[in-house]
Amino acid sequence: MLETEGPAEGALLCWDNLKAVVQLADKYDMAAVRCICASFLSIHRAEIGLLVHDLNSPKNDLNAASLIDRYLTYPKLESFLAPVNQVISKSLQASSATEANKVVSRLRKLTDMPDYPELINTSVQTRVLKALTRDLVPVVCPWCQKASRLWGSASDANDKAFECKCGANFGNLPHRWTL
Ligand SMILES: [Zn+2]
Repeated sequence: MLETEGPAEGALLCWDNLKAVVQLADKYDMAAVRCICASFLSIHRAEIGLLVHDLNSPKNDLNAASLIDRYLTYPKLESFLAPVNQVISKSLQASSATEANKVVSRLRKLTDMPDYPELINTSVQTRVLKALTRDLVPVVCPWCQKASRLWGSASDANDKAFECKCGANFGNLPHRWTL
């Protein structure tokens, strides 16, 4: 399975054995095998999903991010893993408060699991924390009390005043609100 020559070997790699193979590649410092694993993640990145897959599956975004962080962070693998990281980042964002609710609800379940601290790397936990304190948090209009966008998108429009549908204008930091 870990032979790196010949066309068929890559095909033997699958989601079920990915973690074991990545760990072996790490243990024995096999760059070619690491490359096959990174390539596998890149090719199959559309199958990665936060909302559908269990925390212990590498198809789960947080699990995949932890595998990459622990075993596959090498400059030569960046071209394979950049698109995978984009998929993972996107799973921790939302385009509306309703969508954010779904992601937050899922993250509540995942972060509550007993093996979360062990399975998920500290750096990935930090990404989750950032999402939960920023990207997935609705901005509530201080005037009408309605949530009509998310802090994540607010921070993209740095320093631009935010206008609520009710007519109130405020910047993207609370102390700059002007009503
Ligand atoms: Zn308002």
